[in-house]
Amino acid sequence: MQKRGKPFQKGQRRLPNAGRKKGTPNKATWDVQAAAEKYGCNPFEFLAQAVNGDLPCNVCRGVGKTKYMDKKGRLLMRTCESCYGTLREKLSPDTRVRAASELAAYIAPKRKAIEHSFDPAQQEQMEERLCKGREFMEQFLTERLKKDKGESK
Ligand SMILES: [Zn+2]
Repeated sequence: MQKRGKPFQKGQRRLPNAGRKKGTPNKATWDVQAAAEKYGCNPFEFLAQAVNGDLPCNVCRGVGKTKYMDKKGRLLMRTCESCYGTLREKLSPDTRVRAASELAAYIAPKRKAIEHSFDPAQQEQMEERLCKGREFMEQFLTERLKKDKGESK
């Protein structure tokens, strides 16, 4: 068992198994996912439905008809004027193209112009460098803090 108080060994940058594991979403991603699940919202599904022109009509809500009052004050039903009874939201081609574009970015994140091909090894290297940078900063700040505390005594 590790001794409490001084868990770090000299030369060891961090505790084994410390930090976020590869593939585990970071906190921000997790919060967004949890919120989406809580409200039963799946933006991916929504976009896919929009692309296919398959979004449920938000006016008649699956009835195809809406109530209206005629000149004599009678409450009658008529074909939904938003979806014309198709039960699907009428989306312009422009809107559907925009949804398709968003969806495409979801599936294949946009790359910078200079990145011609995806190289998993390069990606790994980049992540490793980022991780090392973060560790370096943490170490630097910890040492700085220790130094500051020592000087204030
Ligand atoms: Zn409708």
